Amino acid sequence: MQLTRNFTDGEFKCPCCDKEKMSRDFIAKLQTARQAADIPFHINSGWRCQNRNKKVGGAENSSHLTGHAADIRATDSQKRFAIVNALRKAGFERIGVAKTFIHVDDDAGKTQRVMWLY
Ligand SMILES: [Zn+2]
Repeated sequence: MQLTRNFTDGEFKCPCCDKEKMSRDFIAKLQTARQAADIPFHINSGWRCQNRNKKVGGAENSSHLTGHAADIRATDSQKRFAIVNALRKAGFERIGVAKTFIHVDDDAGKTQRVMWLY
Protein backbone atom coordinates (compact mmCIF):
# COMPACT_ATOMS: atom_id res chain seq x y z
CA MET A 1 0.00 0.00 0.00
CA GLN A 2 1.30 3.45 -0.95
CA LEU A 3 1.52 5.63 2.17
CA THR A 4 3.02 8.75 0.61
CA ARG A 5 4.54 9.69 -2.73
CA ASN A 6 7.76 7.77 -2.04
CA PHE A 7 6.91 5.26 0.72
CA THR A 8 4.89 2.05 0.90
CA ASP A 9 3.89 0.20 4.07
CA GLY A 10 6.01 -2.75 2.95
CA GLU A 11 9.18 -0.74 3.46
CA PHE A 12 8.39 -0.35 7.16
CA LYS A 13 7.16 -3.87 7.93
CA CYS A 14 8.75 -5.98 10.63
CA PRO A 15 10.53 -8.77 8.71
CA CYS A 16 9.63 -11.50 11.21
CA CYS A 17 5.86 -10.96 11.53
CA ASP A 18 5.15 -8.78 8.48
CA LYS A 19 3.28 -6.20 10.57
CA GLU A 20 3.57 -2.45 10.21
CA LYS A 21 2.40 -0.03 12.87
CA MET A 22 4.21 3.16 11.93
CA SER A 23 2.94 6.54 13.10
CA ARG A 24 1.38 8.26 10.08
CA ASP A 25 2.65 11.62 11.36
CA PHE A 26 6.17 10.21 11.39
CA ILE A 27 5.80 8.92 7.82
CA ALA A 28 4.47 12.27 6.61
CA LYS A 29 7.47 14.03 8.15
CA LEU A 30 9.83 11.49 6.63
CA GLN A 31 8.25 12.18 3.22
CA THR A 32 9.01 15.88 3.70
CA ALA A 33 12.64 14.95 4.38
CA ARG A 34 12.72 12.61 1.39
CA GLN A 35 11.65 15.44 -0.91
CA ALA A 36 14.16 17.85 0.64
CA ALA A 37 16.97 15.32 0.10
CA ASP A 38 15.82 14.39 -3.41
CA ILE A 39 17.61 11.02 -3.22
CA PRO A 40 16.09 7.57 -2.51
CA PHE A 41 15.69 6.60 1.16
CA HIS A 42 16.30 2.88 1.66
CA ILE A 43 14.64 1.88 4.94
CA ASN A 44 16.75 -0.71 6.77
CA SER A 45 14.34 -0.92 9.68
CA GLY A 46 10.94 0.60 10.39
CA TRP A 47 8.40 -0.88 12.77
CA ARG A 48 9.65 -3.72 15.00
CA CYS A 49 7.78 -6.17 17.20
CA GLN A 50 9.30 -7.04 20.59
CA ASN A 51 10.85 -10.25 19.26
CA ARG A 52 12.55 -8.54 16.36
CA ASN A 53 13.76 -5.67 18.53
CA LYS A 54 15.38 -8.13 20.94
CA LYS A 55 16.92 -10.09 18.09
CA VAL A 56 18.60 -7.03 16.57
CA GLY A 57 19.75 -5.76 19.97
CA GLY A 58 17.48 -2.70 19.98
CA ALA A 59 17.07 -0.62 23.12
CA GLU A 60 14.38 -1.86 25.49
CA ASN A 61 12.45 1.39 24.98
CA SER A 62 13.29 1.60 21.26
CA SER A 63 11.18 4.07 19.27
CA HIS A 64 10.94 1.38 16.56
CA LEU A 65 8.50 -0.45 18.88
CA THR A 66 6.04 2.43 18.80
CA GLY A 67 6.44 3.21 15.09
CA HIS A 68 8.21 6.50 15.64
CA ALA A 69 11.61 5.56 14.19
CA ALA A 70 13.33 4.47 11.00
CA ASP A 71 16.87 3.51 10.03
CA ILE A 72 17.82 4.87 6.62
CA ARG A 73 20.74 3.34 4.73
CA ALA A 74 23.65 5.78 4.31
CA THR A 75 26.96 4.27 3.30
CA ASP A 76 28.95 7.28 2.15
CA SER A 77 29.64 10.77 3.43
CA GLN A 78 27.60 12.58 0.77
CA LYS A 79 24.46 10.52 1.39
CA ARG A 80 24.95 10.83 5.14
CA PHE A 81 25.13 14.61 4.87
CA ALA A 82 22.18 14.84 2.45
CA ILE A 83 19.97 12.69 4.68
CA VAL A 84 20.85 14.38 7.97
CA ASN A 85 20.45 17.81 6.36
CA ALA A 86 17.01 16.87 4.98
CA LEU A 87 15.88 15.35 8.29
CA ARG A 88 16.74 18.61 10.04
CA LYS A 89 14.90 20.61 7.38
CA ALA A 90 11.83 18.44 7.99
CA GLY A 91 12.05 19.25 11.69
CA PHE A 92 13.44 16.00 13.14
CA GLU A 93 15.35 16.58 16.36
CA ARG A 94 16.58 13.09 17.22
CA ILE A 95 19.21 11.59 14.90
CA GLY A 96 21.61 8.70 15.39
CA VAL A 97 24.56 8.27 13.05
CA ALA A 98 25.92 4.77 12.42
CA LYS A 99 28.57 3.66 9.93
CA THR A 100 25.99 2.38 7.42
CA PHE A 101 22.71 4.03 8.38
CA ILE A 102 21.02 7.05 9.93
CA HIS A 103 18.49 6.46 12.69
CA VAL A 104 15.75 9.06 13.00
CA ASP A 105 12.86 9.23 15.40
CA ASP A 106 10.28 11.73 16.62
CA ASP A 107 9.70 10.14 20.01
CA ALA A 108 8.22 12.99 22.08
CA GLY A 109 8.96 11.12 25.31
CA LYS A 110 12.72 11.31 24.79
CA THR A 111 15.30 14.11 24.90
CA GLN A 112 14.98 16.46 21.94
CA ARG A 113 17.75 18.13 19.87
CA VAL A 114 20.22 15.27 20.15
CA MET A 115 22.53 13.53 17.69
CA TRP A 116 24.43 10.45 18.73
CA LEU A 117 26.83 7.84 17.36
CA TYR A 118 26.65 4.03 17.50
ZN1 LIG B 1 8.06 -9.04 14.02
